Amino acid sequence: MIVIMQTGATSDNIEGVVRRLRENGLRAQISWGEERTVIGVLGTGFPPELEHSLEALAGVERVTRITRPFKLASRDFKPLDTAVPVDGLAVGAEGDFVVMAGPCSVESREQVLQTARSVRKSGAAVLRGGAFKPRTSPYSFQGLGEDGLKLLAEARAETGLPIVTEVLDVRDVEIVAAYADILQIGARNMQNYPLLREVGNTRHSVLLKRGLSATIEEWLLAAEYIMAGGNLNVILCERGIRGFDSQYTRNVLDISAVPVVKRLSHLPVIIDPSHAAGKWYLVKPLALAAAAAGADGLLIEVHPSPDHALSDGPQSLNLQNFDDLMCALQPILAASGRRLAGGRLEPVSA
Ligand code: PEP
Ligand code: MN
Repeated sequence: MIVIMQTGATSDNIEGVVRRLRENGLRAQISWGEERTVIGVLGTGFPPELEHSLEALAGVERVTRITRPFKLASRDFKPLDTAVPVDGLAVGAEGDFVVMAGPCSVESREQVLQTARSVRKSGAAVLRGGAFKPRTSPYSFQGLGEDGLKLLAEARAETGLPIVTEVLDVRDVEIVAAYADILQIGARNMQNYPLLREVGNTRHSVLLKRGLSATIEEWLLAAEYIMAGGNLNVILCERGIRGFDSQYTRNVLDISAVPVVKRLSHLPVIIDPSHAAGKWYLVKPLALAAAAAGADGLLIEVHPSPDHALSDGPQSLNLQNFDDLMCALQPILAASGRRLAGGRLEPVSA
């Protein structure tokens, strides 16, 4: 249920609604709009008489039931697009396209710094890199842990690029949040509800990947878990879903998720073509398609020497190929009045 306030409703009017909800064992999530404020009602059980009594309060325009199962993530709750703040940038801000790039895993100081410098020059606005890795096999490289986070922090200090990195476990949220600008929830953890609640209790921006076989509704409900804790800074990331042909592509990139999510939700949505493709030579066409379909940005795996990568080498772009992609993106973005949020500095030489 949402309570739509009249234009010009006062803070006393809003406080009156919040108080009435509290008296009924419900919580309020306020969305301050330029025109009008909308109050989302959180909790279970709204007796019809409550609906009428809210409507009678000063400053209330109307009370509406949101029929979709996700509420705070829904466009009914917030009609205007959300721009998620990330250290001076905003993902989802009108006109900006945010490219997050870097290695699948942080492997060494040299590898992270070289990649960070190069992707920055090419126009990336955020550095990615996994320190805690969700590997299919327990015998594969599991990441450098906190040492990896420290290397990411060093790369941020040198290049100014904010960091997105995965948090795998509820017990690591505090330590990862101490280093990261964006907490990444991986595809395998999309329905790890304790973890979603934990990041929902922080005020860190969260990048929420779509699960390997999650429906769009399940994905938006996972976002709702985070938002119900009061953290509205959620960036959705489509990274390909399981198909039946894994011979030529690792997953199937659901490009339709972009316009569908944009219609259903106010949250920004970005595309990770690397995990969808599984092959480096598919990353560029999928990335260009994502930009053309209206995604708010990309998450791309880049490695200075993909054939030596400790994880996801076959899908990683080398520095030159990443630079080529960033060049190719520009006319597509320009056609829709957008630009790279980081801005290209200089071309990378081979
Ligand atoms: C990653 O970004 O390196 C990763 C493990 O992604 P996903 O959760 O989409 O598999
Ligand atoms: Mn990876």
